[in-house]
Amino acid sequence: MMGPAHSLSGAAAWLGVGAAAAAADRPMPWPVLLVGALICAGAALAPDLDHKAATISRSFGPVSRWLCEIVDKLSYAVYKATKGPGDPRRSGGHRTLTHTWLWAVLIGAICSVTAITVERWGVLAILFVHMVLAIEGLLWRAARGSSSDVLVWLLAATSAWILADILDQPGNGADWLFTAPGQEYLWLGLPVVLGALVHDLGDALTVSGCPVLWPIPVGRKRWYPVGPPKGMRFRAGSWVELKVLMPVFMVLGGVGAAAALNVI
Ligand SMILES: [Zn+2]
Repeated sequence: MMGPAHSLSGAAAWLGVGAAAAAADRPMPWPVLLVGALICAGAALAPDLDHKAATISRSFGPVSRWLCEIVDKLSYAVYKATKGPGDPRRSGGHRTLTHTWLWAVLIGAICSVTAITVERWGVLAILFVHMVLAIEGLLWRAARGSSSDVLVWLLAATSAWILADILDQPGNGADWLFTAPGQEYLWLGLPVVLGALVHDLGDALTVSGCPVLWPIPVGRKRWYPVGPPKGMRFRAGSWVELKVLMPVFMVLGGVGAAAALNVI
């Protein structure tokens, strides 16, 4: 899928988690629902850091271009080192290492540990990065074009600052789910993991599938491209994605948000 569909599916997924949390008697305060949905929308773009044309690789100027090159080389090296007898030859790292459940969990864990150890500036950094991505993903058409990079960064920095202040107020959810002292913002890693997994699922629906199970082997393949039967797959950016999936994500997100806030 392309950026906007990935972001929307990420936001909808977190709103669904909000509904589930409300049903399980751990309701999210509205700031957790909102911030989580935005982080998840941003995190749902992150696995494509292995592709230089992807939104994330163009969102942070030279920093992300440089990171993208490193991630692509690292992914390719890991692919070559671990490929099974049934895995095809490849020429680059796109849709390999960063498109696995292990990567999702790793990035989420790094965010959670950063949030509880670096505290304020750690939380702000996580919020800033994901706000930039969420703005690029959800407002894709408006934010398109490199001239608006600085504006997007300013908007993301301001909203990160405001959202962190709101979350810090008592009762607003800094300690949602993890309530022991010192565990504030431990939950920030959850929308990060979820966003990456939702991205992988979205890619699995497309023609080439997604090796989300790595390093668990399937038959002779260690990078088995998970996906539905061939006839049910679509091309990234096709009408199915724009005219069917995106409206469905919006409706599901709306229903999830209403259930999470106990409106329905
Ligand atoms: Zn992808």
